[in-house]
Amino acid sequence: REPLLQVRNLQLHYRTRRGTARAVDGVDLDVGRNEALVVLGESGSGKSSLAKALMRLLPRNVARYSGQVMLGGDELMGMDDERFRSGVQWNRISMVMQAAMNALNPVVRVGEQVAEPLRVHRGWSKEAAMERVVETFATVGVSRDFVTRYPFELSGGMRQRVVLAMALVTEPELVILDEPTSALDVLTQASIMNVLKRIKREQGTSFILITHDVATSSELADRVALMYAGQIVEQSDARDFFHHPAHPYSKLLMDSVPRLHQSEPPGYIPGEPPDLIDPPAGCRFADRCPRRFGRCSEDPPAFELDGDRRVRCWLHEEGTDHDG
Ligand code: ATP
Ligand code: MG
Repeated sequence: REPLLQVRNLQLHYRTRRGTARAVDGVDLDVGRNEALVVLGESGSGKSSLAKALMRLLPRNVARYSGQVMLGGDELMGMDDERFRSGVQWNRISMVMQAAMNALNPVVRVGEQVAEPLRVHRGWSKEAAMERVVETFATVGVSRDFVTRYPFELSGGMRQRVVLAMALVTEPELVILDEPTSALDVLTQASIMNVLKRIKREQGTSFILITHDVATSSELADRVALMYAGQIVEQSDARDFFHHPAHPYSKLLMDSVPRLHQSEPPGYIPGEPPDLIDPPAGCRFADRCPRRFGRCSEDPPAFELDGDRRVRCWLHEEGTDHDG
């Protein structure tokens, strides 16, 4: 694996009326070149906040934004905003934001919207940008006739391809997709996932795919990171994660995925995630964990396991064997 993105101890906290919400709270993450990392986690676990932290798209009420982010050997967190905006944001890292397909400008032709990153961030001429837009449309399966259409003239699936084109048009090294298919029917979801697979194969792009949908993401995924209450609790090869999840939360999550040929009903995870404003001092999952023991009142570090896995759980402390 050739590393592309290395994230260490990333924090993004928000100021709120009730106190500081620790939406991203000490995240370590690695994405290799030409690799797809799928980020799973229940609603409110901080997935979109993590994506925005990497893209430096921050709201006004940031209380803390810190850590290290290396992209292809360049440290990004120390970079001033101007350099980050001109050199990194939308150029080397781009993003399809959650619900982006519904955020297209209704009065601007989609071709012009897709050309915008090239015009604004690269200073390309209109003609050159349009030529590239048509190429990118072809890549994502949108015919050139659509360039002059308005968003309302497009189906949901086509609009999603358009926002994908917008993220790809600058040929970034890393594309972050925040639930790109959650509003689409299953066939459209599958065809979008196929587009992503082809781009990965043909262009060597790396992806961070945020999703709730374990099944549709499993074909693209090389690695999986599972988020819980602002932290990554497990990071493993996709196959290992799907077949032998290591963290108790990962196990429960995989048991909760409905399967076609299964007699028992899928499991569910009782309880609620902790408040991000005042999370417990120990393991954040302990309250809901069927395997908690005394040690869990202390915050577990990420233990490195064979096969390039990192698991934030005391059950995997070196020298102990709690498996069963
Ligand atoms: P979902 O699956 O529902 O999209 P998520 O995992 O993407 O959830 P985030 O949107 O990152 O979660 O939110 C994480 C936490 O931070 C939530 O508790 C959310 O309410 C809170 N949050 C998000 N944005 C802000 C903000 N600008 N100010 C204050 N709190 C915020
Ligand atoms: Mg989100």
